[in-house]
Amino acid sequence: MRRIVILGGGMTGLALAFLRNQNPAPGDDIVVLEEGPQAGGSIRTLHEEGLVLEAGPHTLRTTAAAERLISGLDLTDEVLVADRRAPRWIVRGGRARKVIPGPAGLLTTAIPFGARFRALGEPFVAPRPADLADESVHDFFSRRFGPGLARYVAQPLVSGVRADDPKTLSTRSAFPELWEAEARTGSVLRSLLKAPNPPGPRFRPRTVSFRSGLASLTERLAARSQRAGVRVELNAEILAIEGPFEGDDDGIWKVQIADGTVYPADTLVSTLDATEFASLLETRLPRSASRVSAMAYSRLAVVLQAFRPERPTDAPRGFGVLVPRGEGFRSLGVLYLSSLFPDRVPEGVALTTSFFGGALDPSLPDLTEGDLLKLAETEVRRLHPEIGPRVHGRVLKWPAALPRLPVGHHATLDLLAQDLAEINAGSERPRLVVTGSWRDGVGLGERIARAEELAPTL
Ligand SMILES: Cc1cc2nc3c(=O)[nH]c(=O)nc-3n(C[C@H](O)[C@H](O)[C@H](O)COP(=O)(O)OP(=O)(O)OC[C@H]3O[C@@H](n4cnc5c(N)ncnc54)[C@H](O)[C@@H]3O)c2cc1C
Repeated sequence: MRRIVILGGGMTGLALAFLRNQNPAPGDDIVVLEEGPQAGGSIRTLHEEGLVLEAGPHTLRTTAAAERLISGLDLTDEVLVADRRAPRWIVRGGRARKVIPGPAGLLTTAIPFGARFRALGEPFVAPRPADLADESVHDFFSRRFGPGLARYVAQPLVSGVRADDPKTLSTRSAFPELWEAEARTGSVLRSLLKAPNPPGPRFRPRTVSFRSGLASLTERLAARSQRAGVRVELNAEILAIEGPFEGDDDGIWKVQIADGTVYPADTLVSTLDATEFASLLETRLPRSASRVSAMAYSRLAVVLQAFRPERPTDAPRGFGVLVPRGEGFRSLGVLYLSSLFPDRVPEGVALTTSFFGGALDPSLPDLTEGDLLKLAETEVRRLHPEIGPRVHGRVLKWPAALPRLPVGHHATLDLLAQDLAEINAGSERPRLVVTGSWRDGVGLGERIARAEELAPTL
């Protein structure tokens, strides 16, 4: 019998257990250990007052693997697709300005004229020096596209979408496609315009959710896996991991949870956050443990609000708004949920989600819930004075929301890869597999893609 123990029952752990179990090797025994009272990790859908609200991620940008998973779980009829042309907005000079998705976005008045002009000169900027191994997103954008684009586009994107600081976030780790694009031809724009079409039909990602929220996905995964024999153990906080033991019939690893139960494992898969993973396996990671355990996570407060505008045209339209620092707002960004997924919102209601905190404003989530509600309402009203009375409000706090990837993060991952190679050397099947948003992609679509890649290798 081969025992596979998956540490963490979020999107990655659940997808991996489900996909592995679809084609199990004879005698595979799969256990998912999750410390929380429910599976799903960061995915948490709330149902309150007839509203579907998301406490964590709000949208799934699909990958081919995510599309396959959705249909494999028979969730296709539940999918809600956001309009791909929905405008994004960026605040400049105190007012939101429209950004059309795609290259035409460079024409937006969210970017001052001179900065747009400079950005279009990117193909004429000298390629980076050969010995530059990584660079912050701020430095990368300033160098390639000019300081205006760094300030008005890169900064709000990094703080609003990743809750990180553009002056410390690694381009190479967070935006590998840009980093590699520059390496290919010496210019990001030239590479993107010249990129050959991959063979076969072109995959077009969609931005989706489900009628009952994103938790439909993780709930269905957990239910189907359990029905097929996977054990999903909840309230199972992992306290200690012993091993690897050589050729031990009782398991190469022994994983102990808080109630004292010990799970033997032949293959261990960690989907834990970096610090938890490093603290549990520290002594087995001589090269990488100190760097992995030092990784920081951003803190976030998420404020969900429902308003009742008098006229439908008074509700915010589009995907949402990003707010550069220095514009007099504390919100990092606001998503317009009722515009994104109107089919699941009661008529006449406008739903917004405001994000606060992140690396640039780390103490803001310490405000009381009342103060955060007040702040979120004030700032949404500044942008949408006609939005009407607020009829519902809810605050969620995430003390460790998203991993911060510092410049040079790739070196940490290289050291980890060396540690893993040593642990797995000489074994036909891997003993230890490590994945997670701090290692191989933060988006839900990427998390599913990693699970699909790893499932057959276990
Ligand atoms: C507020 C917020 C908004 C986001 N918005 C988006 C979005 O709109 N779109 C998008 O694509 N992504 C978004 N993300 C990112 C995305 O949600 C995550 O990258 C993804 O959910 C990570 O899934 P995971 O399974 O890899 O990790 P996690 O969801 O973190 O799962 C790991 C699991 O391990 C468990 N665990 C930890 N320690 C232990 C232990 N000692 N014992 C047992 N179990 C343990 C945790 O309880 C958790 O359930 C957002 C994240 C947050 C927090």
